[in-house]
Amino acid sequence: MLALGVRGGLYAGDSSCYLVGIDGRFPLQLDGGSFTEGVDRALALGTLKGTLPDLVAGLRAILVTHIHLDHLHGWALRSVIDLGQRLRGEAPAPLVLSNPDTVRSLQRHVFNGELWFDAATAASGKPVYLYQSLGDGETLPLEQLASGLLLHHLRMEHPVPTSAFLIELDGQVLAYFGDTGPLPPTFWKERFLPRVEKARRVSVVIEVSFSNEKEALATSSGHLTPTLLASQLAHLPEPLRSRLDLFLTHLKPGEEVGIHAQLEPLRSMVRSLTVPVQGARYALGR
Ligand SMILES: [Zn+2]
Ligand SMILES: [Zn+2]
Repeated sequence: MLALGVRGGLYAGDSSCYLVGIDGRFPLQLDGGSFTEGVDRALALGTLKGTLPDLVAGLRAILVTHIHLDHLHGWALRSVIDLGQRLRGEAPAPLVLSNPDTVRSLQRHVFNGELWFDAATAASGKPVYLYQSLGDGETLPLEQLASGLLLHHLRMEHPVPTSAFLIELDGQVLAYFGDTGPLPPTFWKERFLPRVEKARRVSVVIEVSFSNEKEALATSSGHLTPTLLASQLAHLPEPLRSRLDLFLTHLKPGEEVGIHAQLEPLRSMVRSLTVPVQGARYALGR
C-alpha cells in the first residue's frame, strides 16, 4: 500500500488517498485526496518508480468512500490525464466504485460538464470512467485487477453516506474505511467479522480525526477519537485482533500531537499500529 495522502481536511497537499499494489503494479486507487502531490512525494522518496501518466494508465479501479472534498479533489484535477488517455485510446476506462449516493453526487456535482467535464461522455462521446454503484453487503469479483480478487462493500453513515471497502486476495483482507463516527456493535459482529474471520491477516485503514478531548466534536461530525476507536475494536474477538494490522489515517491538522499521545491503549489491542506518512510504502501481511 502506498500512502499518497494521509491527513484529514485543511491541507490540499496531503489528504486521504492511497494506492494498492499487486504484483508490482498499482491497479487500485482508494479515495483521491492529494493524488498528484502524493505521487510527486513518492517519486522523490523512491517509493514509486515511473511517471505520473504511466501510473494513471495502469489504474483499473477507483474506490471512492464518500463525496467530501478532502477525499476527492486531487483525483478530480488529475482526471484531465485520464481524459487525455481516453481520447488517444491509450488506456481503458477504469471502474469508479462507490455507494449509490456517492456515485450520484459524482455525476451531478463533480464530473457534470459544468464544475468539470462530464465523465460519461467527455472522451469524444465515450466515458472517461465507468461508474458502478455497490449495494450494502455486495461482493464484486475484480478478476480484471488480479485473479481471485474480491471486493466487499459495507455502507456506513457520516454526515453523508460513506463506505468501507474490504479487498480480499490470497487469504488476506485490506479493509479501507471512509470517514465514520462510532458504528453499532452489530456492524462489527454481524457485518464486518464474517468477512474477515477466516483471513490469515487483516489490515484495517481507519480514521482517527480528533484527540480524546474533542469527543463531542468527533461524534457530531461523524469522526473517531483514539478512545472511540478502541471501543469499536473491542467488539472484535481477541483472536482476530491478534492478526490485525491497524493503520490510522485522517488525523486532522492540529490534532496530531494529542492523538499520538493517546494511542497506547489501541496499540495493545492489535498486532501492529501504524500512522502512515505521505509517500511511504507499507507491506501488508508481513
Ligand atoms: Zn475526510
Ligand atoms: Zn468526510
